[in-house]
Amino acid sequence: MEEGGSADAAPAVQRRRLELTVEVPTGSGLGALRQAVLGWGEANRRDLPWRATRDPWHVLVSEVMLQQTQVSRVLGPYRRFIERFSTPAACAAARVADVVVAWEGLGYNRRAVYLHRTAGVLVERHGGRVPVDLTALVSLPGVGAYTARAVLSFAFEVDTGVVDTNVARLLSRAVAGHPLGAVSSQKLADSLVPAGRAWAFNQSLFDIGARHCVARHPDCHGCPLRRRCRWAAAGWPPPDPAAASAGTARPQSRFAGSDREGRGRLVTALRRRSIAATELARASGWAGEPERARQIADELVRDGLARWGSAGLLELA
Ligand code: SF4
Repeated sequence: MEEGGSADAAPAVQRRRLELTVEVPTGSGLGALRQAVLGWGEANRRDLPWRATRDPWHVLVSEVMLQQTQVSRVLGPYRRFIERFSTPAACAAARVADVVVAWEGLGYNRRAVYLHRTAGVLVERHGGRVPVDLTALVSLPGVGAYTARAVLSFAFEVDTGVVDTNVARLLSRAVAGHPLGAVSSQKLADSLVPAGRAWAFNQSLFDIGARHCVARHPDCHGCPLRRRCRWAAAGWPPPDPAAASAGTARPQSRFAGSDREGRGRLVTALRRRSIAATELARASGWAGEPERARQIADELVRDGLARWGSAGLLELA
């Protein structure tokens, strides 16, 4: 997935109102829509390494990496990570520091800690395997409802819809023709999945959203759903249905000068060597703000990414 903003980000009142309006396609219209998606996908789906496997652990790793990170940035780290930690047991047996080092290039390093914890839970409670169960999946550290459904669909072919940013946008425009709340989007996505074809259908829908039904200036003329799209059939009346739909925005706080930037710099430095308290400010890129740098270091320790070693040096956990 190219996972985007949380569908839970919409105001509660608006979301409740939107839930009432979902309309599920049926009959020949539904069949034609499914066929259009599947047919386009057969010829056009992107060839990505996590699409060449059904290994549940590998799928889970890819989905965690794709949270908030572009596909192009995930390709290299995914291959390296899977080579090094090919099973939950291999990941659980490693030190957190090794997993954080393998996470290099992805950012949001806390995900590496969660993935390591998840590997531990899989070994301790699930016999080293990824469970085929939504409730068990969402109880894993760092695994939300989206990621759990993606694993069910892409590793186990469970007939469930998978609604990422691109799919939420496409559903509101093409199928509903009006804004959708999070629950409506999921319900609609579930109803569209052809029995036994969840993998192909959901992956194809991702790519139609990413390639054609983009946020600004959708490419409707090249879109395989053009003839079945409600918003297009109505002549694209404003406002864009996707604009007020849940899960379609990808809120990005400013990175330059943020604590996230300093955290990233500090973790990058820690991948190379341990750091003395007096060096924190320089390693964080905040030479004039030692207190801020210290707070960031304390956060890394609280998050399980780093620890103070016996020599008084900060090091990866
Ligand atoms: S026709 Fe346009 S708006 Fe409709 S699904 Fe395709 S790209 Fe999106």
